[in-house]
Amino acid sequence: MQIPEQNHSVKIISKLINELSKLPGIGPKSAQRLAYHFIKLPKSEVLELSSSLIELKDKIIYCDICQNLSDENPCSICTNNQRDHKLICVIEEPLDILAFERTGSYNGLYHVLHGVLSPINGIGPNNLKINELLNRIKVNNIDEIILATNPSIEGESTAMYIQDIIGDLVPKITRLARGLPVGGDIEYADQMTIMRALQGRQEI
Ligand SMILES: [Zn+2]
Repeated sequence: MQIPEQNHSVKIISKLINELSKLPGIGPKSAQRLAYHFIKLPKSEVLELSSSLIELKDKIIYCDICQNLSDENPCSICTNNQRDHKLICVIEEPLDILAFERTGSYNGLYHVLHGVLSPINGIGPNNLKINELLNRIKVNNIDEIILATNPSIEGESTAMYIQDIIGDLVPKITRLARGLPVGGDIEYADQMTIMRALQGRQEI
């Protein structure tokens, strides 16, 4: 027997579950749990969440120079004249910038790749902001590039790939010192570890 109204609400819930399960790290089970969590939440809290998602899409943009997320373009790091504009630290994700900024000991600029090379997942050089980095190096006078991708297999091979294509264009290319946990994310490393990795960086 069909009850149209119930069918309609089931449809609404399964649509939400379907949307939620597309999120990174969320499987069908967690998506279902989240959906039921939203059903129980007061409407004001759901509105709060949905409006911050919309605000995110409306106001957060990419900096054309460093590809970092920002609310202005160019971002406040790229336009800061107190910083060393001849030093660029190449990182995987925008959150890595926070990790370096927390140390208070890095005064150069950044370049966000937005991922790492991963042939298994179909991610090649054109899916990352590598061309943007190349153009940046060609039109600016850069003294040093720090390849600060994560110490994972993919992070290492991405650093090697970039070193290959920029090797002739930059006087000095360095890699962060060991000490970062292998396979660990820079994003989660503590200040002291990052500071030591920066200070001990070695030319490659
Ligand atoms: Zn920027």
